[in-house]
Amino acid sequence: MRITGKTRVAALFGYPVEHTLSPVMQNAAFSHLGLDYCYLPFSVAPEALKQAVESIRALSFIGANLTIPHKEAVLPLLDAIDKEAAVIRAVNTIVNRGGKLSGYNTDGKGFMRSLEELGVAAAGKQVLIIGAGGSSRAIGFYLSKEAKVLTLYNRSREKAEALAADLSSAGGTVTAASDIGHLGGFDIIINATPLGLRQCDQMPLDPDMLTPSVVVCDLIYHKTPLLSRADAKGCKTVSGAGMLLWQGALAFELWTGSIPPVEIMRSALLSHPA
Ligand code: NAP
Repeated sequence: MRITGKTRVAALFGYPVEHTLSPVMQNAAFSHLGLDYCYLPFSVAPEALKQAVESIRALSFIGANLTIPHKEAVLPLLDAIDKEAAVIRAVNTIVNRGGKLSGYNTDGKGFMRSLEELGVAAAGKQVLIIGAGGSSRAIGFYLSKEAKVLTLYNRSREKAEALAADLSSAGGTVTAASDIGHLGGFDIIINATPLGLRQCDQMPLDPDMLTPSVVVCDLIYHKTPLLSRADAKGCKTVSGAGMLLWQGALAFELWTGSIPPVEIMRSALLSHPA
């Protein structure tokens, strides 16, 4: 990558941010298209978020990505919020248009693209999401519009109920389950909790209950114990790597107005396994 006097920055604000794979795919995409942009991660503590957002204007960044824990806290700091991000109540992408900062959420759409490219359709299906945090909210927004019924399960039930109420009022058919003791009837099951991340070998459900017709998805990028057990049961599996790729591709498109070189971004990610 060549840095010039005109190079503009796309930032990532997170806390922590060291583990991120986004610079690899975004910088590969900028280089491939010969764009004089550069993607840089910044460790931003919660109390510094306001100053970090102001720096997007002050330093003429093209925009930024937000990751944990800033996706919700950033909303009041922006000039405009896209309609879908407002319902999701989380922003993962900021675009700077002449000093006006607009917030978008590409996580949910990114997940839907990752399903689509693997030939998994949620339309008319019974879908279960385990977890009711930020990413469950983002993917739930889109899944609730397509699924026959979207069921949410969370260890703190009240959070699943609140999210089900929000998504239902946005036009979806959504219920909150009090337990997932049996999984009969679900066509697609999605883990949107951190269970299975790195050293954690816990699973969000009993894999012995899975049947081969179920599609099992995990938002975690690498192959989790859940996905390995689901594979062994003959289920189709989808990891979070596709969501990571597509949320990044959609952010790239918002910043640059160019069609993202998705295969370049994919191979950059594959060459730096999580
Ligand atoms: P979040 O907002 O913190 O929500 C986490 C959810 O998981 C909450 O519902 C929480 O339940 C539940 N949970 C946490 N620890 C648990 C445990 N030990 N047992 C059972 N449930 C537990 O997090 P998030 O942003 O939604 O992220 C969730 C996962 O998605 C993470 O693993 C993250 O890495 C992944 N992710 C992937 C992508 C991608 O591009 N592939 C993008 C975003 C996120 P409570 O409500 O009871 O606390």
